[in-house]
Amino acid sequence: MLLYEGKAKKIFEAENGRVTLFFKDDATAGNRAKEAQFKGKGQLNCEISAILFEMMRNAGIKTHYISKKDERTHLCHKLNIIPIEVIVRNIAAGTFCKRYGLDVGQTLDNVIVEWCVKDDDLNDPPICDDAITALGMATIDTLNHLRDQALKINDVLTQLFKSLDLKLVDFKLEFGYHANGTILLGDEICPDTMRLWNKNNESFDKDLFRLDSGDLLAGYKEVLNKLEGK
Ligand code: C5P
Repeated sequence: MLLYEGKAKKIFEAENGRVTLFFKDDATAGNRAKEAQFKGKGQLNCEISAILFEMMRNAGIKTHYISKKDERTHLCHKLNIIPIEVIVRNIAAGTFCKRYGLDVGQTLDNVIVEWCVKDDDLNDPPICDDAITALGMATIDTLNHLRDQALKINDVLTQLFKSLDLKLVDFKLEFGYHANGTILLGDEICPDTMRLWNKNNESFDKDLFRLDSGDLLAGYKEVLNKLEGK
């Protein structure tokens, strides 16, 4: 049974409190202002996200990921998703530059963890701790835990991509509650949800599509090849 269809994934109910995540070939940008299909993107993201979730598990991060079921599908624990997008930024890019009038690529004096409301109708607006707790979206303890996990994940991913000659500019995470009450990292981690640059600040992520700056599939394939040591 289809539980949810998002811009890049479909989530189906599976047995024993589990779900399957199907990775679509669709790409959207600017909250569907721009849409296209890239044959093979789903498979690339499915494989990249599987590799990165396995790394998270090995680093002691609790995640929803159980296994890769087939080339387009992950088997995962079912989560009650916390409706907050957790954005981590190492280098200024994207909406952060637009919001504050910064040059893309500007260095930051510290890592930034930001919260955005997960709501397409509202265009996922940024939200602060006090507003989140005032609206009952999460407690301060939960936010502190998410921030802690996000920074740990950033450390692991930054080191990994550095070793592959890529800079991890920023990325988005989602978390949710498992039926047993624990908070697990959910969703996906792939070039749709992160920015990756080489030493010349060329993109290997969805900016290739957002900004029409190159071949999306070639960029994603390069990320996968690097992760697979090819
Ligand atoms: O658009 P913005 O610059 O705020 O995005 C920051 C990071 O979060 C980017 O890597 C982007 O791909 C990711 N993101 C996402 N889904 C969203 C918003 C941002 O994956 N809804």
